[in-house]
Amino acid sequence: MSRRVFLLVSLFILITSFIKIKWFNKLLANIIKKNQTQILTHKAFFNHLFSKEHPESPDRLISILNILRKKKLDLLLREINIEINERKWIETIHSIEHIESLKKNFPIGEESSAFAVKGCLQGVDEIMNQNTKNVFCAVRPPGHHALNTGKDEGFCFYNHIAIAARYIQRKYFLKKILIVDWDYHHGNSTEFFFYKDPSILFFSTHDVNAYPRTGFENRKGKGEGKGFNINVHLPCGTQDKKILGVFKNILLKKANKFKPEFILISAGFDSRKDDPLGCFNISDQGFKRLTEIVMTIAQKFCNGRVLSILEGGYNIEGNALAACAHIDILNNFNKNI
Ligand SMILES: [Zn+2]
Repeated sequence: MSRRVFLLVSLFILITSFIKIKWFNKLLANIIKKNQTQILTHKAFFNHLFSKEHPESPDRLISILNILRKKKLDLLLREINIEINERKWIETIHSIEHIESLKKNFPIGEESSAFAVKGCLQGVDEIMNQNTKNVFCAVRPPGHHALNTGKDEGFCFYNHIAIAARYIQRKYFLKKILIVDWDYHHGNSTEFFFYKDPSILFFSTHDVNAYPRTGFENRKGKGEGKGFNINVHLPCGTQDKKILGVFKNILLKKANKFKPEFILISAGFDSRKDDPLGCFNISDQGFKRLTEIVMTIAQKFCNGRVLSILEGGYNIEGNALAACAHIDILNNFNKNI
């Protein structure tokens, strides 16, 4: 082969492989683009009923599923099917007396909440095994008021988000977890379990005048945990601008110092406008912006690792619309990074 032919052939191979690599990368980017969120749920959540007229009803989830279908986001749905001894993980937060009392006195509620725990643990595994970027757990009942009282507190039996935080730390050895709670009510149980713990940064916006009447701004943590509990009271009528200002001016600054390795969201949508149990006025667009702020932190510090868990939200349609707005950003935020 002459030198000239050799050079031409080499050049040809070089150009075609470059095109192939570009084509392959484009294909890969398109695959990733399609889906970065999993929504975990299960029909087991339809069983638990406090009473016929109770606001924390299966209709909350049914409505989310219907609107996901309408918005063609239902392709993100996955069934909770993990085989795990969830009791072992529940016991990292809750006492044996509490668990046994729930099993005896509230068997269906306990079963539903234990199933929600399973969903959260599956979500953590999916993210840590890089099967998905982030996860939304469409579960019920909520969990952020659950204490060790042997009964439900504010519709909650087990604190799913607290259990997920311990699971991340003990199974995957990640140390620093940020928990963001934008439910209208204060996440008193999450505060309680991590009040002295500097490995969990708990940030909650809520109305201190509402149930459970906790969450005052002077409650900042204790001992080593001092400075890692952030409560922000917001008044009735709070709109997007106000809560977004709090997220930008307080959460972003604290998170930049803390540098979380995993982010959990207590995604309560009773802070949305028109909620029968709340008096805030946050729009679906507002929840999109809040999600973007959390995603910005997640991309900066923890490779986008976010597990979001449904908490409150009692306007059946409003809760579903806000949840879908939130999921839309989880699934589409800066896909190509
Ligand atoms: Zn709530």
